[in-house]
Amino acid sequence: MPPVPFPRELAQAISDPNFKRDLQAVIEIGKNIWPEVDAAARKKGDKGHLYARIAERCHLALMGVKMAASTGGSGLTKSGPAGPPQNPPVMHGMMYCLDLVEKIIRTDFRAGDMARLAKLPALLKRIRHLLRVYYDFVVGGRQHSDLIFCDWDSMLLVALMLHQAGLCFQLEPSRFRAAMAASNGELEKFFLDDELDIGLFRQTAFELERYVEADPESEDTDRMAAGDVEDAADDDLTAHVMSWLLGDVLVAFIMDENTGSSDSRRWAGKAMTRLVEWSTSKTIRTTLGDALTDAMRPIYWTPSLLVRFSHAGGLGALFGDWTNSTCRNMCEDILNDMPEAVWDNQTPASLAVVTRELQTKVNSEGSVIAKCPIFINAFLNMYRRYSLAPFHAAARLENFDSPVIFYYLSHRIKQDSLPMISSQDWLDLVTTYIDMPHSTERRYHWANMTVSARWDCLELYGCCAEACPEKRELRRLRERRVRGVREGAVEARLDRWGGKAKACKACGWVAYCSEACQRADWKKHKPECLMKRR
Ligand SMILES: [Zn+2]
Ligand SMILES: [Zn+2]
Repeated sequence: MPPVPFPRELAQAISDPNFKRDLQAVIEIGKNIWPEVDAAARKKGDKGHLYARIAERCHLALMGVKMAASTGGSGLTKSGPAGPPQNPPVMHGMMYCLDLVEKIIRTDFRAGDMARLAKLPALLKRIRHLLRVYYDFVVGGRQHSDLIFCDWDSMLLVALMLHQAGLCFQLEPSRFRAAMAASNGELEKFFLDDELDIGLFRQTAFELERYVEADPESEDTDRMAAGDVEDAADDDLTAHVMSWLLGDVLVAFIMDENTGSSDSRRWAGKAMTRLVEWSTSKTIRTTLGDALTDAMRPIYWTPSLLVRFSHAGGLGALFGDWTNSTCRNMCEDILNDMPEAVWDNQTPASLAVVTRELQTKVNSEGSVIAKCPIFINAFLNMYRRYSLAPFHAAARLENFDSPVIFYYLSHRIKQDSLPMISSQDWLDLVTTYIDMPHSTERRYHWANMTVSARWDCLELYGCCAEACPEKRELRRLRERRVRGVREGAVEARLDRWGGKAKACKACGWVAYCSEACQRADWKKHKPECLMKRR
């Protein structure tokens, strides 16, 4: 039976509007069109889940394509500038290279033609180059002469064919090791050493963001400028498409660690470092999206792998995939059921990723989410092992417009010497966070802000009376202020005004710096006050 190109058929089948897209049906197609996978699955019962992975991943891609199509047909739906592939495809073009990769991995390897395996690195580099050429054209309008080699029906097809190669390696480690051996170090370099090509726009956005974060004087306009560059970078899918292959391959290296050879151990070590870096970096997560999350499943599924991955610094990735990915239900189950050992051996940097993702979750779903067992367990385990350090570190990242949960928790524990031994202790404290009056929350915000943020937020915090004379005076002082120059007396005055504001006793919603301000504002506040009383 001749080999049938799996992704093309499956992509066509699931794109058909009449196709009933339940998992079982897709699995059946997978069995029929990829007999060698089926044979391997029958040989080893534990590989059966691979069909589900392939099917679900294709399904994901299809949803992405449909979403992109409904918002104007961008992203993975676009065909190449050289038009649909001809028969035979353009020499040394994208489809030519992908077809060859497929043939080498599937047919030549079977036929024992090991010499042809040595051609893989050059082909993969060519594919990566053509993606770069294409997206430099899409994002930056750059006209490279190699655009004539960009022939494909849809980028989804390119991604799926790369994914197939990655899964082939993962499914059959012997094939993978043979390819590595035949490449004379070239594949190791390609998969494990070459820097991920995230594109010039993403790189610039990355640099800007780092600059903004490192500068204590940075302002909102700086953040907005960084955001604009990042929006442009979203159109560059080079790294995203490559990650359909790279994610599977990194996981394949990690799964294949215990073969006893020093090569396997070295590859697994490098792959682990790389996977942790990619899955916990905010920028790279954004760039690679769900393609990476989905590739991580074997690690999330296997408790011993998850513990190793966590000890290497990757725990935050799982929290991130729970916060924001199409795999969030799976991640929720895993977070509720993971071994406590994942919390051992954490560094401040890896805990910072965990707390960052918890903050994002509270920000997007509201403070009530912090009562769920995943939060309570995370608080309990972090505090038990690392005391308040991760809480303090997280509090420093809480802005004027984000929740102040870590600041609140660490402040209360320290101030009131709370024991925090059991889940119930944490649940009780978190409940006081959720239930605290608005004006109290404002005071916590104010106390946690940097000086420049306080100057920025004169209108949002402190005394709520529009006619407040002290606010007027502070506005005037703000005009005079020179960025970066510290003025102790003026800043103490600002601090006092915002920190000492007292809440309206009736509603707890607004706060005033003096009784005079409260009286002056009463006419305006009265209707709001009646509404906000509980
Ligand atoms: Zn006032
Ligand atoms: Zn009131």
